[in-house]
Amino acid sequence: MDVFGLLGNPVGHSLSPPMHEAAYDELGFDARYVTFEPEPGDLAAAIDGAAALGITGLNVTIPFKQDALEFVEPDDLAARIGAVNTIDFADASAEQPTGYNTDAAGALRALREHEVTIENAAVVVVGAGGAGRAISFALSDAGADVAIANRTESTAHDLAADVPGATGHDLADDTLDSLLAQADVLVNATSVGMEDDATPVPAGALHGELVVMDAVYRPLETRLLRDAAAVGARTVDGAWMLLYQGVEAFELWTGRDAPVDEMNGALRSRL
Ligand code: NAP
Repeated sequence: MDVFGLLGNPVGHSLSPPMHEAAYDELGFDARYVTFEPEPGDLAAAIDGAAALGITGLNVTIPFKQDALEFVEPDDLAARIGAVNTIDFADASAEQPTGYNTDAAGALRALREHEVTIENAAVVVVGAGGAGRAISFALSDAGADVAIANRTESTAHDLAADVPGATGHDLADDTLDSLLAQADVLVNATSVGMEDDATPVPAGALHGELVVMDAVYRPLETRLLRDAAAVGARTVDGAWMLLYQGVEAFELWTGRDAPVDEMNGALRSRL
């Protein structure tokens, strides 16, 4: 039996186990997906232990995505983002397992699967934390012009300095309106909208030519997405990014095409 899992703390509400196990069921894999909650100081021991136990692959979530970088050989994208969310133990002879960032690939694929053109698109990413970093690198690598707006302006500038061609902005600044007026795509990578019915972007700054993707997936229909739909913008909810980061991880670990519909069904039935 193959064992996959998730390292995080807390991981109690994770949707990854049912999403991945739906894929194993569909393809007839003898596999399980287990959640692990090590103490923050035990991350190195947890990754070493997983390798020793023959675990096939791990996802990594808060608070370990950045710290895990030290204990894996990251691919180029994960190294530039500075965080990993997927570890592959397939090469048992390697000194360290391989680390990937499928949040980045997942965000890109979520947009592409919705037939959004990224090449030469003007994209505004709101938020410059972990999700904002992954999304900004992914979309820039795919050929978008990325503008990053963040509540803490200095973090937006720091991220923009790392992402080729990107610009950094204050979320509260008037320039957000003019950036959005010219934009093709808006991505919310802040946590605003998760706890309360708030939005990081005033409804008046949205327009019908935008595609608006939210990284927040609880609730699925955030105020930002409602506001966007009301002005005729196309919307992509946060479950798509969550789905495709899982799909990308599954495909890295197994080398097989993921059964996307079954994984999506397992995810959405729980949201
Ligand atoms: P993070 O590293 O803690 O970053 C949080 C971001 O939100 C920062 O940019 C922060 O700005 C901003 N923010 C927080 N409260 C704000 C407020 N009241 N007003 C304006 N900005 C605010 O978190 P993260 O890991 O990037 O996650 C961000 C969101 O993305 C979460 O809701 C998470 O669940 C979601 N997410 C979804 C997926 C998916 O697959 N769908 C994957 C990863 C994350 P400051 O820098 O000013 O603090």
